[in-house]
Amino acid sequence: AKAEIAVTGLAVMGRNLARNLARNGFRVAVHNRSQGRTDALIEEFGHEGDFTAAADLPALVEALEQPRKIIIMVKAGEPTDAVIDELVPLLDQGDIVIDAGNAHFLDTRRREKALSEKGLHFVGSGVSGGEEGALNGPSIMPGGSKESYAALGPILTKISAHVNGEACCVHVGPDGAGHFVKMLHNGIEYADMQLIAEAYDLLRRVLGLSPAELADVFREWNTGDLESFLIEITADVLSQVDPTTGGAFVDVVLDQAEQKGTGRWTVQSALDLGIPVSGMAEAVFARSLSGDVVRREAAAGVLPGPASAKVDVDRDAFIEDVRHALYSSKLVAYAQGFDAIRAASEQYDWNVDLGAMATIWRGGCIIRARFLDRIKEAYDRNPALPSLLVDDYFKDAVANGQDAWRRVVATAATAGVPAPGFSAALSYYDGLRADRLPAALIQGLRDLFGAHTYKRVDAEGTFHLEWSGDRSETKS
Ligand code: NDP
Repeated sequence: AKAEIAVTGLAVMGRNLARNLARNGFRVAVHNRSQGRTDALIEEFGHEGDFTAAADLPALVEALEQPRKIIIMVKAGEPTDAVIDELVPLLDQGDIVIDAGNAHFLDTRRREKALSEKGLHFVGSGVSGGEEGALNGPSIMPGGSKESYAALGPILTKISAHVNGEACCVHVGPDGAGHFVKMLHNGIEYADMQLIAEAYDLLRRVLGLSPAELADVFREWNTGDLESFLIEITADVLSQVDPTTGGAFVDVVLDQAEQKGTGRWTVQSALDLGIPVSGMAEAVFARSLSGDVVRREAAAGVLPGPASAKVDVDRDAFIEDVRHALYSSKLVAYAQGFDAIRAASEQYDWNVDLGAMATIWRGGCIIRARFLDRIKEAYDRNPALPSLLVDDYFKDAVANGQDAWRRVVATAATAGVPAPGFSAALSYYDGLRADRLPAALIQGLRDLFGAHTYKRVDAEGTFHLEWSGDRSETKS
């Protein structure tokens, strides 16, 4: 029998995805630009299932039953276009091309349009969970047409992660919706990691806790509301001993965080949508600052700060405060992330089911967490929820934690420990709940220097003041 599905691009992700498919009983055709990876897959893992090795794309297409389903898992960007261009002339109407790489959702929209004009289905699908997830069950975020999902759904849900029997795979929406949601997932991952890093830094520098002691704190936190993969592995990293020095592993790691760009994409897209995602933006900026060696070297030891980061606080009380600050800031980051998904869904007519997005991320991916159930429940209670923060659960969680959160931000400022994630999240929260914002003054300034006009609280219409004249008000 011919293969049911194909994978082209057999680096870590593609190879593991192909193995996952084969282990789940699907007949898989495999191909890679350089044959070596294909041979290695068959040699090492050929026994795991029904593989057909293809030497080139025509052979891959030939090996498949129709309508063909071909997963592209190559380097994102130009390589993906190169593969699509070579593949398309070989295909027939109704065939489905799936890009499971980390494409920008605007590229996915472009590709989907081009292929649908040729009678082909193009599915941009987010796949999260790294190589481990790809092999044992990733979180899958497919976009594309309903018709293509009808054919792909049974395969994708089978190979995805499952939580309480539910697949971490849902059809997100048309064209670029899947890749947008995958991008947002990565942005939230950036924010999550930044907040964890701030909690670590504050506890270490304000209280003087050792990495080993901090590992215990995170382990303890992982038994409550914060329970998540990232908190769990934070404890692992902090308790790791460096084999060379015998000291804490975290202390021998260069403090310059790298980025592949999906966090930046998230923030750029949110800027275009006009949605504040300050949690993610601060996370991206914090990584950039960490890598800015020239300016850090010029400033370190030169710019003054408090004599010591140690502040006279009760140890256990401060640990509990930081836990609240972390959780509240995390709630804000997710609220902002879901707001960006809502806005994109409206702008591009995707009709994304926001609650379902939280269920996709419960397993298989880096941000998997107990708390995602709370998001699902919030949207079940009210599908038109304007912000997660006004849902009762979120509201109460922040209400419980806000005093602590404010103390932590104040202590960070006093101690001279940077906490951009915690403080930006708190400012967003206070901005959101404010009766009145100083934007009124900004509008006044804009009207004065640029005649940009303003609206009044007590009358309809648009107004301008004759600033250089008699300061009379005109209505336009
Ligand atoms: P890479 O991103 O390192 O890409 C390597 C693969 O791309 C190889 O199979 C390579 O073929 C192929 N390739 C590169 N250029 C071309 C080209 N011009 N034509 C054809 N094939 C080409 O591999 P990964 O497995 O790390 O990632 C694959 C995709 O999955 C990427 O889009 C990545 O962003 C995404 N992703 C990765 C995750 C991860 O944890 N690594 C997690 C989630 C998504 P060859 O062997 O011939 O060089």
